[in-house]
Amino acid sequence: MSDAHLNLIDGTWMPGDHLTEIRNPSDLSDLVGHYAAATAGDVDRAVQAARAALPAWQAKGPLARADLLDRVARRIEAEAEEIGRMLAREEGKILSEAIAETRRAAQIFRFFGGEALRIPGEALASVRPGVDIEVTREPIGVIGLITPWNFPAAIPAWKLAPALAFGNAVLLKPAEMVPGTAHLLARIIHEEGCPPGIFNLVMGPGSVVGRAMVAHSDIAAISFTGSAQTGRMIARAGAEGMKKLQLEMGGKNPMLVMDDADLDLAVAACLNGAFFSTGQRCTASSRLIVQAGIHDAFVARLSAEMQALRVGPALDPASQIGPVVSAAQLQSNLDYVALARTEGCEVIGGERVDGPTDGYFQRPALFLNARNAMRVAREEIFGPCAAVIRVGDFDEALAQANDSDYGLSAGICTGSLKQARAFRHGARAGMVMVNLPTAGVDFHVPFGGTKGSSHGSREQGRQAVEFYTTTRTAYSFGG
Ligand code: ADP
Repeated sequence: MSDAHLNLIDGTWMPGDHLTEIRNPSDLSDLVGHYAAATAGDVDRAVQAARAALPAWQAKGPLARADLLDRVARRIEAEAEEIGRMLAREEGKILSEAIAETRRAAQIFRFFGGEALRIPGEALASVRPGVDIEVTREPIGVIGLITPWNFPAAIPAWKLAPALAFGNAVLLKPAEMVPGTAHLLARIIHEEGCPPGIFNLVMGPGSVVGRAMVAHSDIAAISFTGSAQTGRMIARAGAEGMKKLQLEMGGKNPMLVMDDADLDLAVAACLNGAFFSTGQRCTASSRLIVQAGIHDAFVARLSAEMQALRVGPALDPASQIGPVVSAAQLQSNLDYVALARTEGCEVIGGERVDGPTDGYFQRPALFLNARNAMRVAREEIFGPCAAVIRVGDFDEALAQANDSDYGLSAGICTGSLKQARAFRHGARAGMVMVNLPTAGVDFHVPFGGTKGSSHGSREQGRQAVEFYTTTRTAYSFGG
């Protein structure tokens, strides 16, 4: 097939065993392309190639890696419109967000190009006279990267860039719904001179390709982002093989709106946090915990602004909310909307709507009069839906915020320094936002959460070195 996009194994484009057809969730008549699904045998070939390529790659030292990442960053930046367009077509993120995400990927590569030259270490005096100690960071070896569909450029970038910066070889398995963006990134990394075997792209289903990676005895570490359910499976299977694991899973992120909040700011933060990117972000504000005094004014403003959001095709510049990613995700969202009613909420919005093209369009939804014990307030929906929970005071708000299986991001809108500080210290979340949406993070600082949201050391920023290296302690006696 002429538009077949192949896997990259040992520097060669390889066919895999079948092709998967990818269609645009904004317009099902738009065929994005055909992508080759790899097999367990392909995973093994990629791992062997990676092992063989590592010694020469590591011998080149950090400058070669820094230069590669810098060239990749420039290429992504130069091709951001084309890559962003692919991202918008295959995932449904509106074009402006898709291009911004692509630029973010370039920034991440540039940041880790610098980090490749700043690998930390320590020299210490020994407790034994005449002995010196050096503590250094060493590459781990072959690393498996398993990524989700909701950030097809940024998440592969924030795993690939540190993995390569610190001298490892990788297999990247993108989510089966979004191979197109990953394929463009793979082509760039390959064309910019990454040695054969150091970067491998293996596309296809998690149940085959992902599973084979987690089971492979020569893959030393797995960095995964996806659902809590798959994360748990990987944790079990990875423990069997003593793999180093970094698992980023879901969120059910609270946003507190206190009586003393700036109403304009709170409405804007919640509109963005809950509904932008169609709510398909693990950091989305899915529980709006609102103090009684501001509740009615806040709900009136937020619901009016939510209903005015323009839902439409990702490539239409007028659209503010793109489609849901797939038929299955849309059905799941609609089931949650129905559940919210069954659980006693008043639902505003949330219905499926027709667009100008045949796509998975859904209006954003607010579930009013929700309680934190309801399933719609406990389970991650991953769609444009937010539950509104009314509370009496700050202590109640904080307790409800923390009463969750997840702990990724948590936000508060308040004019009070005292409350903001109490929240920063009291919220059980990896990321805390004051007068900012729960979603939307910088690329040079750690990302991750507590409880069921994350497992293993943090991604991004300087802390990424923890996962992508292992520590060596060297003792030497000069005589
Ligand atoms: P989502 O529901 O957001 O698609 P998943 O957890 O299903 O999240 O998928 C995240 C990534 O994990 C995808 O790349 C998917 O293919 C992969 N995956 C799914 N099942 C497995 C598995 N059993 N082993 C390894 N990877 C898997």
